[in-house]
Amino acid sequence: ADISKIRNFSIIAHIDHGKSTLADRLILRTGGLSEREMTHGQVLDNMEIEQERGITIKAQTVRLEWNGYELNLMDTPGHVDFAYEVSRSLAACEGALLVVDAAQGVEAQTLANVYQSIEHDHEIVPVINKIDLPAADPEGVRQEIEEIIGLDASEAVLASAKSGIGIDEVLQAIVDRIPPPKGDRDAPLKAMLVDSWYDPYLGVVILVRVIDGVLKKGQQVKFMQAGTTHLIDRVGCMRPKIEQLPELSAGEIGFITAQIKEVAETRVGDTITDAKRPAPAPLPGFKEVQPVVFCGLFPVDAADFEKLRESLYKLRLNDASFSFETESSAALGFGFRCGFLGLLHLEIIQERLTREYDLDLITTAPSVVYRMHLTHSKNEPAQVIELHNPADMPDPNRIEMIEEPWIEATIYTPDEYLGPILKLCQDRRGIQKNLTYVGTGAHQRAQVTYELPLNEVVFDFYDRLKSITRGYASFDYHQIGHREGDLVKMSILVNEEPVDALSMITHRGTAEARGRGMCERLKDLIPRHMFKIPIQAAIGGKVIARETISALRKDVTAKCYGGDATRKRKLLEKQKKGKARMREYGNVSIPQEAFIAALRMG
Ligand code: GDP
Ligand code: MG
Repeated sequence: ADISKIRNFSIIAHIDHGKSTLADRLILRTGGLSEREMTHGQVLDNMEIEQERGITIKAQTVRLEWNGYELNLMDTPGHVDFAYEVSRSLAACEGALLVVDAAQGVEAQTLANVYQSIEHDHEIVPVINKIDLPAADPEGVRQEIEEIIGLDASEAVLASAKSGIGIDEVLQAIVDRIPPPKGDRDAPLKAMLVDSWYDPYLGVVILVRVIDGVLKKGQQVKFMQAGTTHLIDRVGCMRPKIEQLPELSAGEIGFITAQIKEVAETRVGDTITDAKRPAPAPLPGFKEVQPVVFCGLFPVDAADFEKLRESLYKLRLNDASFSFETESSAALGFGFRCGFLGLLHLEIIQERLTREYDLDLITTAPSVVYRMHLTHSKNEPAQVIELHNPADMPDPNRIEMIEEPWIEATIYTPDEYLGPILKLCQDRRGIQKNLTYVGTGAHQRAQVTYELPLNEVVFDFYDRLKSITRGYASFDYHQIGHREGDLVKMSILVNEEPVDALSMITHRGTAEARGRGMCERLKDLIPRHMFKIPIQAAIGGKVIARETISALRKDVTAKCYGGDATRKRKLLEKQKKGKARMREYGNVSIPQEAFIAALRMG
């Protein structure tokens, strides 16, 4: 294609401001789909869970044709767990439509997204959406965009994605204001691997942005970071239906297939070049994504182990960033240790397993990756091991030092929630780095930066942040390396016996509070027995918290099991059924639900 006629853009918006609706409108207007094909809902978010959660997990790109221009609309995932994927998608574009709800105005996520877009040197076109609403205040929102974000909004497009108002103006603004890509068709091929996914018919499909050169069917290409070569067997684009093309040239976005079996063979950010005439250097900024949060996944019903393995394998076909290996636990039997990009990523996988594969699962406490420096004698080399399962913690006498991952977190929030946020960060061992204000008047937002141990964030930080700010804060982070921490393994003992599934690694300073919380919850969750049950949290041999479940009195049981015969039989049946889901610890039967509930709270 003629590079001067190409426009690559993404849409950024706070959740619910109309990003998907606008994308659908643009596809409809440019003839990609008929009105009838659109009616079953939003085209770009095609996974069921995505639609429900309103987040886009896997980026999708659609090519639109309008007035002789080729417009590539790139959808981006909106969550920090997928920060690197977002960054690669944005790097593939020259501009962005900034959609702001005319009745809501600029909100927390709008800002975080805009700053990312600015970082990629995007030309940003403001679109004030939902002007059909009675509460719409386009003028007020225009001012907000200028004051809070600092963008010139005098030429913001006024639109209603829902009623189809202003759609041509949006398309014209894309053509007029977003610059065409730069690139050299005649230079050696250099294309960025933006995303990849598994398609049951096509195999692994790779989304690429061609920087220089041309990609063609039959071409032998090299993935520069992975060091592999592949023969391209399809080149095309999505309109949004798949269409094969003779080639993709400099500036274009599209897909290729190359008989690749697993998504794991592809790496987002890799540079694809011609095997025979390679580019001298790969694109800058390649980053290997590594799981940062680990947890155990166990089937509630031990018979489901193989089914769980197969399901994990299938999910992994489409998601190279998540990893798993078998694990066994005395409490929970056989399961898998799984690695994720973050908590949301974990929840998505867990939910898909439950929903799409119909599995009943127990998830153990999420853990980050610790670096254990082991003691060694003078002549031995230093030994450092990476630990992602508290159960594998070496003997404390062998540990010289433990390092934990830290992040730098940036939070945008309306001023009124600042106090509780600072307290939350402080409670999580945060170190405040910066606090500034953006915008003025009623729309002023505070921007606060903290350094935090990732360990303190993976438990329930998002949830807490969301609840104390009623969803108005946005949160973004990146890892800043490992630091030494005073970390200990805390064990939970039921009737003097340690329960492996409940052990966790925690900071010495917060161990007591966590231990007490866990003991209190277990006290409520474990049914009373004929004897007293001590529940303890301990570090090494030292008990730091303790609760006791008192014994059942004989007459209570008698009463309980008395009464008419049917009721008694039912009770016994129920008990029998329950037996299978009980685990024995020091003669104490712990219902499986108790593990789940105890772990849920971190
Ligand atoms: P996203 O989260 O940014 O992708 O937002 P959606 O496109 O899913 O839209 C969120 C909600 O706003 C949906 O119920 C849409 O029907 C509605 N919506 C989107 N655009 C408009 C609009 O222009 N006017 C009105 N009244 N509603 C809209
Ligand atoms: Mg959406």
